[in-house]
Amino acid sequence: MHVIHLSVECFPLAKVGGLADVVGALPRYQRKLGMDAWVVCPYYDKPFTQEHDFSTVAKGSFFQGSEELQYEIRKETADSLGFPLYLIHIPGKLDREDVYCYPDEAEQWIAFQHAFLHWLKSSRIMPDVINCHDHHVGLIPFLTKYADGFEMFASVKTVFTVHNGQYQGWMSWNKGILLPPFDTWKWGLLDWDGLINPLATAIKCCDAFTTVSTGYLQELYTQANGLESLFSSEAAKGYGIVNGIDDVYWNPAEDKLIAVNYDVDSSKEGKMKNKKAFCEKYGLDDRLPLLTYIGRFAVEKGADLLPEIVATIFSNTENKISIFILGSGDVQIQANLQALLAAYPGRLATFFGYNEGLAHEVYAAADMILMPSRVEPCGLNQLYAMKYGTIPVVRGIGGLKDTVRDVSEKNGYGFVFQNAVLEDAVSAIERALDYIGQRGKMQRVRRKEMKLDFSWDKSAQQYIDLYNRL
Ligand code: ADP
Repeated sequence: MHVIHLSVECFPLAKVGGLADVVGALPRYQRKLGMDAWVVCPYYDKPFTQEHDFSTVAKGSFFQGSEELQYEIRKETADSLGFPLYLIHIPGKLDREDVYCYPDEAEQWIAFQHAFLHWLKSSRIMPDVINCHDHHVGLIPFLTKYADGFEMFASVKTVFTVHNGQYQGWMSWNKGILLPPFDTWKWGLLDWDGLINPLATAIKCCDAFTTVSTGYLQELYTQANGLESLFSSEAAKGYGIVNGIDDVYWNPAEDKLIAVNYDVDSSKEGKMKNKKAFCEKYGLDDRLPLLTYIGRFAVEKGADLLPEIVATIFSNTENKISIFILGSGDVQIQANLQALLAAYPGRLATFFGYNEGLAHEVYAAADMILMPSRVEPCGLNQLYAMKYGTIPVVRGIGGLKDTVRDVSEKNGYGFVFQNAVLEDAVSAIERALDYIGQRGKMQRVRRKEMKLDFSWDKSAQQYIDLYNRL
């Protein structure tokens, strides 16, 4: 069976968040299980494209409105990611340094999707399944069925994976002329509340949709940024499949980005050494418990609560804790955290920006990771943290609820709180501090979570089972 994953992120080509981790791993695990899985992404102007060799396998052109766009399909020659990676090069539209935040986002992603179908058609490539990831490629399930000239793809099954339902790709109807010509009787499939809404279009037109955890699937029926009724009416074709950990990149026993490698049996000493090296670098006291936050500074992540949580926890513990925050995003949140630094020298350290290597070091060094999310479709941070023996302190929502069991439950290994509010987060951190302060408990819980199986093997098979059902 042949599946093509279509996405605008893929690790290590282009990563902003968990979407990249999934698209960079799932196809490799599917290939291990015998599937012919490819990935198609935009050709960005990024270190990955500069440092790898590509060969041009196809060229073509199409009209986007009145503008004629030329494209090239460039295949990474070495298959270094463990699967065929095809990148679509469109000068002026896709060859950019960043993935998001350009004013012509609608033009960017429509061009990507149109070029993709144009290439498949001209090269006579007929996959069994196109697995589309997030709203940027949400028009594909519509275009394969109703766009003029692409009728040959009407029988290709489309699976749409929702990594984040908050973002939907809304565009005004005046962008409609940029789409390939389509059966105008079907315009209602593109529309949601008077706008073209690619996420809604995908849910209406795909053969099946998946979410990156089962908890998140349930939540979308009542909390989906305006699409609750749509998710509910299409529930029969919805499936929750939890993300896995790519152990090629995330394995403390072999990770080249951390100071000292360790496994379950050597985790006590291994983590201590990593913590020592890390704290020395960032001027923190390694004798104190180290709490961290890694992630986007966004309200959906509860990052706006961080400054208050940090100040309260320092005050409640009389500064008997070290805290390290790694993140980027909302500038106000960053400024509020920055303002705290001077008040807690040697206790609080931060890195504002995106730094993949540093994230590995932090997972290896920290004792606890905090995730006060308001929305969390799956959450990879807690999975990586647990694999590295770092105890999760999380709000019980979405994928966090599915993957973290509170220590108060049988076989529990984390700290779960109910609401994304200051009081709940602080009391969960205090509960965790109290727990790990008790002799032997930290190591026991660490061993338990490091042994959990969040491998991709199981989830990759679930995707394949779904394709087979279709
Ligand atoms: P998201 O909603 O952002 O996709 P996930 O938990 O699914 O959240 O995935 C986040 C991914 O991004 C993880 O691999 C995490 O380690 C990484 N990450 C987030 N922020 C940073 C950062 N500032 N530096 C390095 N890695 C980061």
